[in-house]
Amino acid sequence: MRSQTVILRVAINTPLRRLFDYLPPVDYQGNRLVPGVRLKVPFGKSGEKTGLLIDVSDSSEIEPGRLKRVTTVLDNAPLIDHRLLKLMQWAADYYHHPVGEVTLGNLPALLSQGHRTEKKQIKYWRPASSGNQAGNINLQNAPVQNALLDFLKKYPDGISQEAVQNEFSNCNRPLKQLYEKNLVEYFFVDTPAGNETFPPEKINLNQEQKNAIDSVLSCRNKYQPFLLNGVTGSGKTEVYISIIQEIIKQGSQALVLVPEIGLTPQFINRFRARLDTHIAVLHSALTDNERMTSWLDARNGVAKVVIGTRSAIWTPFQQLGIIIIDEEHDLSYKQQEGFRYFARDLAVMRAQQENIPVVLASATPSLESLFNVRKKRYQEIILTQRAGNASMPDINILDVRGNKMDGALSQQLLTLIRRYLDKKQQVLLFLNRRGYAPVMMCHHCGWISKCPRCDIQMTYHKTTARLCCHHCGHQEKVPSNCNECKGDKIIEVGHGTQRIMETLETNFPDAKILRIDRDSTRRKGSMQAMLDQINNRETDILVGTQMLAKGHHFPGVTLVGVVDADQGLYSIDYRGSERLAQIITQVSGRSGRADNPGIVVLQTHHPDHPLLKTLTEHDYAKTTSLIMQERAEAALPPFTYQALLRADANNPQTVRRFLNHAKNRLDKAQGDFESYGPFTAPIEKRAGRFRMQLLVQSENRNQLKKLLGDWVTRLEELPDARKVRWSLDVDPQDML
Ligand code: ADP
Ligand code: ZN
Ligand code: ZN
Repeated sequence: MRSQTVILRVAINTPLRRLFDYLPPVDYQGNRLVPGVRLKVPFGKSGEKTGLLIDVSDSSEIEPGRLKRVTTVLDNAPLIDHRLLKLMQWAADYYHHPVGEVTLGNLPALLSQGHRTEKKQIKYWRPASSGNQAGNINLQNAPVQNALLDFLKKYPDGISQEAVQNEFSNCNRPLKQLYEKNLVEYFFVDTPAGNETFPPEKINLNQEQKNAIDSVLSCRNKYQPFLLNGVTGSGKTEVYISIIQEIIKQGSQALVLVPEIGLTPQFINRFRARLDTHIAVLHSALTDNERMTSWLDARNGVAKVVIGTRSAIWTPFQQLGIIIIDEEHDLSYKQQEGFRYFARDLAVMRAQQENIPVVLASATPSLESLFNVRKKRYQEIILTQRAGNASMPDINILDVRGNKMDGALSQQLLTLIRRYLDKKQQVLLFLNRRGYAPVMMCHHCGWISKCPRCDIQMTYHKTTARLCCHHCGHQEKVPSNCNECKGDKIIEVGHGTQRIMETLETNFPDAKILRIDRDSTRRKGSMQAMLDQINNRETDILVGTQMLAKGHHFPGVTLVGVVDADQGLYSIDYRGSERLAQIITQVSGRSGRADNPGIVVLQTHHPDHPLLKTLTEHDYAKTTSLIMQERAEAALPPFTYQALLRADANNPQTVRRFLNHAKNRLDKAQGDFESYGPFTAPIEKRAGRFRMQLLVQSENRNQLKKLLGDWVTRLEELPDARKVRWSLDVDPQDML
């Protein structure tokens, strides 16, 4: 009988944009087959896969006789509740990404592989409470064991194996040896110890902060997006913490999203010091087990607060009460490969589904969010004052045209640095370019160091004496003679952070100088060690890339120098001016955050540029309204919505043909949209492949979504679809 057919519609982690139909297992138990449970299903030749039940239906396009049966139902209750499941489906639709990758791809790896939802217990170590004391046994000849024991003695209540491993990468063997000597012992716990004791911090919130907290809490049980627009150092983090205190008092949970490099122990410790509750942390450096533990703790309501990077938007909660997005303008909220979702937009969508407030916070809000304020979709809360005794720094333009330079630094800037060092205050120099020099050139024939696989020059890294491609990772030794003319004079052109270090070292031989960029912080924990050094005043001058610009609180820094404010003024990307305004405001915001007043100096060859001028007036609002006007006139986002079809292949003709076909299909569609291209990508060749793109734009977001949906299915059928690698980027944040 037809009415009794039960068809299970299942998401499976494959690149196919569809669900798969199955029949229930033989020992079918209707009450367990609820959307959100995981299933084992037969799939392809490979055998079995883990699937996620999305829907239960009574019909299938495939004859029931040809459908296969689910092998096992893995969960007794949905792993993901219906609201989160709906968000995932919405995202698969909106970004036109395969639903199996969106759902299963965002589960902790262990769960998407079908492991049970049992939490593994966590192993803790501590010095042995009884038995041998160190005096009896001589560890003189076992320096590692000795150091390890000294380390453990700092934690009489125990420390997790994971944390020991962070300090001693090969701790397994020495731990075992210490255990055999009866010097240490271990035990297991279910949940990691939340709060080590932190000194209580008493802060008197100012009136602006109090008003901000009241505004948000007055909407605590309904959907309402807020833009918390507060100058750097205005105490936004304190506002989050106070809001969360109230939310968890009412029994709800909080999700805090932070940029990729914003998740420093300092930031988390501020929450731990003030919230007496279990806080789970989610970021890319976790082990599979740690990730599953945090995820399950949030789902079961054990963790009241989750602090995480972009992908934490997919965390399930028992009862979510608020979402907070720190530094909402940060680009790391957009995933730039594979499933190209924008966690900021999804957070707003999720808040709507959960019927809760969402707070987007920044000192330099994105144009999209400011636009939403204008449209009255978001409520804006402004913090105009720095918290405590701090005041905003003076921002000055330093016209370097025709000036005597030492490397990239003008004599005036060097003099200023000297003056601040004499005052025993810290100096921060910002240059968004790592390496020694962005390119090397032959002095005889003009040959330049291009990457053999990309259409871009290779950066010279002096510390390793290599040329590196920052796009594909290719590296080679610096040639001693020119590849073209065999000449022996190869010169460095331009300046990176390593080269600035050199200039500083010759000018200030007694100063302690620290470089912070991706190269110098590769080792796990090194970023934190450097931040500690800075805040312990073991550093006089900090040189760094945008890693230094974001969110950090350096109380000792009073002079900030932007080495090249022209970088980004004439960018090919229309977002260049927005990014420049953000980065200059953010770097400037590192200055004078404590009692001593700060100043900022911008070295430029374009002292009259209107963008730089408004920035010196601390007028981010004025700057962005200038940019907003340009965008309106050019019909660019946020006034329109875009999608970018990217394609690449070894053969340029194949790419062009594919995109031309794609464009033809599009031209047949009806609707209110425009398409541009195909054109060559700004980086024409990358890792040996030729790259082109096609831009689609519309003033109507829903129309664009529908158009793209139809288009994507057609693209899959194009003759060259399998010869090129293509991807569709909805709301692209860069055109590279
Ligand atoms: P933001 O996140 O807006 O940049 P933070 O929350 O990091 O600012 O605050 C900057 C500094 O000011 C921190 O050291 C913080 O402890 C301190 N602070 C915040 N609010 C107050 C206040 N009301 N009184 C005194 N100090 C405060
Ligand atoms: Zn040459
Ligand atoms: Zn390359």
